[in-house]
Amino acid sequence: MLLANKTAIVTGAARGIGRAICFELGAQGAQIVAVDILSDPLKSTVSELCDRGIKAVDRVVDVTDSASVNRLGEEVVEKFGAIDIMVNNAGITRDTLLLSMDEKQWDDVIRINLKGVYLGTQMAAKSMLRARNGRIINMASVAGVMGNAGQVNYAASKAGVIGLTKSAAKELAKRNITVNAVAPGFIATDMTESLPDKVKEAVIPLIPMQRMGRPEEVAAVVAFLAGPGASYITGQVLVVDGGLHM
Ligand code: NAP
Repeated sequence: MLLANKTAIVTGAARGIGRAICFELGAQGAQIVAVDILSDPLKSTVSELCDRGIKAVDRVVDVTDSASVNRLGEEVVEKFGAIDIMVNNAGITRDTLLLSMDEKQWDDVIRINLKGVYLGTQMAAKSMLRARNGRIINMASVAGVMGNAGQVNYAASKAGVIGLTKSAAKELAKRNITVNAVAPGFIATDMTESLPDKVKEAVIPLIPMQRMGRPEEVAAVVAFLAGPGASYITGQVLVVDGGLHM
């Protein structure tokens, strides 16, 4: 129970990697504030967490809405005393090749994947600075490290998350707040399930481990960064990709 008595906010918690992060942090003793824009799947995630004896609440918040994000932060501090762990995980894809990408596809991805992380990081940092303690973990992607055809918007947003993570890490380090990013490769979730079969088939042979990752394999790395073993790690990008990028 390495995270006993810690409070963690996890965004994009209704499904996929965010859901797995809630279960992993909860299994290690953290109480979970699960955030998403999807109400029904979020409620079922939280009721399954509670069934397993994990203390969890659901909050429907759009990570791009600064007023709602800041209200959430105030409420969590009031109710639980502190935000010990902030996991900015919510993200979307709107894939298409550069020449066919429209401005809405660009704007939506940058707004949710990058502005959402900025607002979540800023909100958490306010309370963590007062507590002189905290862990912020941002979900990047291997696409933000190596680029990916058909994802100029997504890769730009995730490269932005990496720059934001390193800059915030430098600003917050002396107050005992670490800020790190996790960069998954191809993980089996609804996000990758929607890719055409021929894309999925083409990707597997490029992965040295010859398989997609599981959400739990990303969640374990997030839990490590949130836990005592990572107390002297900040500004890093941990790639979880079965060897795709090396
Ligand atoms: P997912 O299954 O699509 O789950 C993402 C969750 O975030 C969804 O429930 C989604 O709700 C929610 N969300 C979207 N916009 C939001 C907003 N404005 N406010 C609050 N919640 C919002 O995706 P995933 O595969 O678990 O991905 C999680 C994170 O890992 C993302 O940041 C993604 O970019 C990153 N990642 C994933 C992979 C992969 O292979 N799966 C690889 C690298 C990085 P809606 O369904 O309504 O959109």
